[in-house]
Amino acid sequence: MVVRMRHTRAHTGNRRSHHALVSMRVSKCPDCGAMRMNHTMCTNCGKYKGRVVVDVLAKIAKKEKKAKAAAKK
Ligand SMILES: [Zn+2]
Repeated sequence: MVVRMRHTRAHTGNRRSHHALVSMRVSKCPDCGAMRMNHTMCTNCGKYKGRVVVDVLAKIAKKEKKAKAAAKK
C-alpha cells in the first residue's frame, strides 16, 4: 500500500526495504554435478531425489525432430 500524500525519505526507504531481489537457491545435482534449482528436477539429467522423472534424451530427440519438421515447411 502506498499512501498518496506526505512522502518522507524515511517512509519511502522503509517501504522499499522489502524490495530487494533474492538470489535463486541453487545447489549441485548429486547425480551429474550440474547446478540445479532446489526442490526442482535437474534439467541436465532429469532426476529428482535420485529418481528419473523426465527422460532427457527422449525430450532432446523430440525437440530435434520438431525443429527438423519446422525447417522443412
Ligand atoms: Zn543432474
